[in-house]
Amino acid sequence: MITIIKTFKFKLYQSHRNKKLHRQINAAGLTYNHCVKLHKRYYRLFHKTLNKAKLQKHMTKLKKIPKFNYFAEFGSQAMQNVAERIDFGYKKFFRKENKRPPKCRKVSKTKSFTLKQSGWKLDEDNHAITINGQKYRYHKSREIEGTIKTVTIKRDAVGDIYVFFVCQVEQNTVIPRLGKSIGFDFGLKDHILVAPTEEDDVDMPRFFQQNRNKLKKMQKKVSRKLLANTDHFVKKGKGLAPVYKRPIHECKNIQKCFKEQARLHRRIVNQREAYHWHLAYELCSRYALISLESLNMKWMQMGHGKKVGDYGFSEFLIILKYVASRCGTTIIQIDKWYPSSQLCHDCGYQNKHIKDVRIREWTCPKCGKYHDRDRNAAINILKEGLRQLKAI
Ligand SMILES: [Zn+2]
Repeated sequence: MITIIKTFKFKLYQSHRNKKLHRQINAAGLTYNHCVKLHKRYYRLFHKTLNKAKLQKHMTKLKKIPKFNYFAEFGSQAMQNVAERIDFGYKKFFRKENKRPPKCRKVSKTKSFTLKQSGWKLDEDNHAITINGQKYRYHKSREIEGTIKTVTIKRDAVGDIYVFFVCQVEQNTVIPRLGKSIGFDFGLKDHILVAPTEEDDVDMPRFFQQNRNKLKKMQKKVSRKLLANTDHFVKKGKGLAPVYKRPIHECKNIQKCFKEQARLHRRIVNQREAYHWHLAYELCSRYALISLESLNMKWMQMGHGKKVGDYGFSEFLIILKYVASRCGTTIIQIDKWYPSSQLCHDCGYQNKHIKDVRIREWTCPKCGKYHDRDRNAAINILKEGLRQLKAI
């Protein structure tokens, strides 16, 4: 048995009661900003970072003052969670994992707050959850497994509210099974995952590309409306900034357009994710060993641009690894410096000229075998994967 963390996501019903949650999320945003400012002021005065416990203690005191009573609106645990989040952000910054320390952000862009043991009550049979004393119903798309550790209320760009249950789940360990094995090379020319033989090749649709015209139309609509609302331009930095006749957040039509755009973006993300799950299950049911290249995403994006992001490889790999662990499929990732495309799969000769990505086909100077670049690489990746498996 192993313990894993699983997150279950449910959408809340559309309801007028949701405005209470919106208010609580906004309050979380205000609290966040207040704490960030406190951190900064503390550093300026004492040249030390403010520690979490001190901040939490201070906030508990503050919420008794009428001016700050919005602190308590979303529960004292959620308030402590805000302090934890900022602390986490600073720690990441000091470890140089983040480039910037946490900073103030727009309250309307705040997304979530998290509750731990208290402040919520789940009624699974009625598909309902009580958050800070108010009952909300959610679309129950599946059963919740394991013990719930935290509950997060999250708002997306469209304005819909979701509830996330982070659960600790006990699962049986799955023993790796035997079966077919395959190696994949990432090719961005004809197919996405190139296998040693043609019939095993895998393709992925480019959902962003498919919806690009729709998005363009929406963007045009927005910019037309913004222009109609613009009074004049002022100089700002290198460019010009518009001065609006009416503030944007008051223009209902423009807000509607923004929402429409956000909805389409959400649709694209959902489509892509659904496809990833399907593909991962299909691959894992077909093969017992999948050998892949480790990718350097930054490097790939430099070469191919937007296309790479549209496939969402990194997300796909996470899903694939999870599904594989459940199905008993072994995933092996070959080191990114392994010269998979330079080696001849037949005799092992390393042809250094093939570094140039423009060469799609080549003939081995040693044994005279004709190679397709990606297919040869896929065979090498599979070979290397099998070798590593034996070495374990
Ligand atoms: Zn050869």
